[in-house]
Amino acid sequence: MPSMASRYSQRPSGPDDDKRRSFKDGRRALLEQRRSLPIASVAEKLVEHVKKSDTLVVIGETGSGKTTQLPQFLHSAGFCKGGMMIGITQPRRVAAITVATRVAEEMGTEVGKEVGYSIRFEDVTSPVTQLKYMTDGMLLREALLDPLLSKYSVIVIDEAHERTIHTDVLFGLLKGVQERRKCAGFSHIHDNKLNSIGQDTAAEKRVAVFSNGHSLFRKSTGPLKLVVMSATLDTKGFCDYFNGATAVYVQGRQFPVQIFYTYTAEADYLEAALLTTFQIHMEESLGDILVFLTGQEEIESMERLLRERATHLPETALKLLVVPIYAALPSEHQMRVFQPAPVGARKVILATNIAETSLTIPGIQYVIDPGLVKARAYNPHTGVESLAIVPVSKAQAQQRSGRAGREAPGKCFRLYTEDSFAKLDDTTVPEIKRCNLANVVLQLKALGIDDVLGFDFMDKPSRTTIVKSLEHLYTLGALNDEGKLSDPLGFRISRFPLEPLYAKAMLVSSEFGCSKEMLAAIAMLSVESLFYTPRDKIKEANNAKKRFASQDGDHITFINVLRIYSLEVDEGQRGGDVDSSTLDRRASKKTEKVIRNWCTANYINGRSLRRAIDIRKQIQGHMESMGLPIISCGEDMLVFRRCLAASFFLNAARRQLDGTYRALSSRQTVSIHPSSVLHGKKPECVVFNELVRTNRSYIRSITQIDSLWLPELAPQYYAALDLANPTQTSLQS
Ligand code: ADP
Ligand code: MG
Repeated sequence: MPSMASRYSQRPSGPDDDKRRSFKDGRRALLEQRRSLPIASVAEKLVEHVKKSDTLVVIGETGSGKTTQLPQFLHSAGFCKGGMMIGITQPRRVAAITVATRVAEEMGTEVGKEVGYSIRFEDVTSPVTQLKYMTDGMLLREALLDPLLSKYSVIVIDEAHERTIHTDVLFGLLKGVQERRKCAGFSHIHDNKLNSIGQDTAAEKRVAVFSNGHSLFRKSTGPLKLVVMSATLDTKGFCDYFNGATAVYVQGRQFPVQIFYTYTAEADYLEAALLTTFQIHMEESLGDILVFLTGQEEIESMERLLRERATHLPETALKLLVVPIYAALPSEHQMRVFQPAPVGARKVILATNIAETSLTIPGIQYVIDPGLVKARAYNPHTGVESLAIVPVSKAQAQQRSGRAGREAPGKCFRLYTEDSFAKLDDTTVPEIKRCNLANVVLQLKALGIDDVLGFDFMDKPSRTTIVKSLEHLYTLGALNDEGKLSDPLGFRISRFPLEPLYAKAMLVSSEFGCSKEMLAAIAMLSVESLFYTPRDKIKEANNAKKRFASQDGDHITFINVLRIYSLEVDEGQRGGDVDSSTLDRRASKKTEKVIRNWCTANYINGRSLRRAIDIRKQIQGHMESMGLPIISCGEDMLVFRRCLAASFFLNAARRQLDGTYRALSSRQTVSIHPSSVLHGKKPECVVFNELVRTNRSYIRSITQIDSLWLPELAPQYYAALDLANPTQTSLQS
């Protein structure tokens, strides 16, 4: 093993050196870094292709500079002239944020000015924004307000190989927009779009609007250029789908990566990942470690275990710096993964599959891959969608190992056997083939695309899935008998940035007079792992949870957390304003500390609580903009539980004779998840919001209801339930 001194001397400059470096040097270094990226050598060629063709497909190894550079090339080539924008879609919000921040830095501006981003519940753009990074879902939402996407000269669909549902829908939609924008001269806009255009001053500047009495015309904003970018080589599918578009390959650099497999299957992959991390740390030469985990909860427990065990490292050993990265991490923390480890430390990055292709983190030389990913799975026959941890595909495993060989030869430790690798699927099935499509179908309908079955999908979802989604929307009342968006319910549901079921619940709650409670519950349901239970303090954490626990279930428990938080922290801080939170960016250091202490003392995950409060504020804004009042039912939780039953009747389950539960609509046998406050309580009938599959099917986020409420509140769906016979699940659809 090399001596410690020689290890240190290999470190790149640390943050202290950075501070000393002048601003100008920093800019020059950035410029040099940009020029050395593989994509720099084909910049002109790419711009030429975009100028002369409608659609360009760009293929390049992860890290070659596609996401950060190509939009800047187009910007320099004049694609933002006349106030037009370049939109770049990302499947993941972390990528949208971190990449926009990076590009802003490269362009010498602040994020939110010329370079901005837009993700659900967070819009960091301004009227001067020219490069807009956004999640694919957000661009779909923009299309609702501006069907021609008239502000954009170019749309870049990034990470196309990920084939998320939203990306797939965008493919078809953007093809249509291209066709319509090509129609020379003027485009016709219906009267009902007048408001959305009239209100948009930025768009007004860009387009000349004049009226001929009954309808509006405006000058066309020119053709829409599309760039589809992917990290994998199967271009043919994309090129064929986009009418024979040209593909340009960006030659990447890839150093060899040595792959290691385990001899036998690992019973506990977290423990295996932990051991491997320390083994690398003690035995291998310098270089950061990237560990792929499945979600926030897992990352947080790994983070704690690593920190804890790192305290037992010999004094002379290199320090271990643990940095997590996942979607729910506050954006100011997300950029930390990009900072080099300080002198005398090795960085261990714990990431979800965000780090597979969306983000390129410099300095990684070792990858630890348990071979798993959290994915949505959908059974079109039962209509049930669940979250499950499933094996990655071969293509994903290869992408992951590739992350070790970006700057030098590296090593990848796969925590499974070589045999298991051979059995993996070659590629991942596109999301559109394995998800509930209710949300997408609703959006298509809201865009005026009524023939969903006939939509130009690159890969068609099964007919059963589409029909099931239509049925689901019909049951919610979002579609009328003709299969069109109902007025006003369907329109309203489609306007919320929420799953249709949750959007409907918000609307129902304003009728029940408990929208304040529903708002809190849905905000809390939108975040992962609110309670945190360290492995060594399970008893203490469970005791702390008792303060909030409601015997009626998890939804009211969630509400209690927000209520007690408001009483003890918000009110204490600013004297009585329960509704607004002090958790915004301007919160003083002192307030931050009070909040942190409160969360620690109560075993609450501060990051999750912070996000939930933020989401609550956003949904409240949507409610208010629709003129829907925020009303509280006070202490009368019966009202709220009835409202939950009326909203989530599709997710009801009844206890069976053997103590398990049966989901009434899918007839699936399920159990109450150990994390639920109702675990071990065995109520007769419940509604739930989540289905998790591990070795068995668990329901989570549960509230007990009276089974008689179902036929009363959802008579269209439930015939009278026979109470004497708990196995009977009489349904009528
Ligand atoms: P691609 O999209 O082809 O995968 P990117 O444009 O994301 O490539 O990245 C290009 C380069 O920029 C990579 O070497 C990456 O390490 C670097 N980079 C990207 N974002 C950051 C950041 N926030 N901080 C430092 N380097 C970054
Ligand atoms: Mg990229």
